[in-house]
Amino acid sequence: METHRDVAAIIKERGNVVAFTGAGISVDAGIPAFRGGQGLWEKYDPMEYAQIDAFLRHPEKVWTMLREMSGVILRADPSPAHRALGALERAGLLNAVITQNVDGLHQMAGNTNVIEYHGNHRQLKCPTCSGMTALTEDSIKVLPYPICEECGDPLKPDVVFFGEQIPATAVLRANREANSCRIMLIIGTSGVVYPAADIPFMAASAGAAIVEINLSPTPFTSSIANHFLEGSSSTVLPAILREIGLAL
Ligand code: ZN
Repeated sequence: METHRDVAAIIKERGNVVAFTGAGISVDAGIPAFRGGQGLWEKYDPMEYAQIDAFLRHPEKVWTMLREMSGVILRADPSPAHRALGALERAGLLNAVITQNVDGLHQMAGNTNVIEYHGNHRQLKCPTCSGMTALTEDSIKVLPYPICEECGDPLKPDVVFFGEQIPATAVLRANREANSCRIMLIIGTSGVVYPAADIPFMAASAGAAIVEINLSPTPFTSSIANHFLEGSSSTVLPAILREIGLAL
């Protein structure tokens, strides 16, 4: 398709790509988006299950949701779209991935500069003493919830719950990448969750070409996207890679 070729050409010419990703890129990896359809938020009210005060008051209740989500994340493998971003980095064309996802799949696909705006579910952190430990199949079997070996308090995935701040280092790193990239790929995100959704606008203001890959148009499409590629990122990104002459 003509547009794949156009996008491949500007990636080859400009390099310095930063990807901004959301739930859509992980759907093909077996992780349903939180909102809509099979999403966890259809089953669990986020205000009762993803709110920091709710966690601190009723960790055993919140862990029923976290246990289900942990299982899904631990059993997921990177999608063709994740692997395409890994290949772009290995080819020296991609500098960073800024993700709203917490599944750690970008790192598994070989990306080394991953900025996790909402944290990482594969790490468990103690809200009391900040002790960290890896999430494992064994840790999620512990009832009513996994506990901190240091202080005995309930562990929580190291993700940003409602009522918590986005990690300051993630914000600083994301802003720096958005302001210095020459191409931003928007992948699998509807652009409704703020402040993360500001990032592509920042890149556009700084002069980056904006390439959007989504299943349907979003607020980015008519405002800042120079190229809109409609479809699944697991189909579109490998097609762009083939045009560039790279293997997954
Ligand atoms: Zn602790």
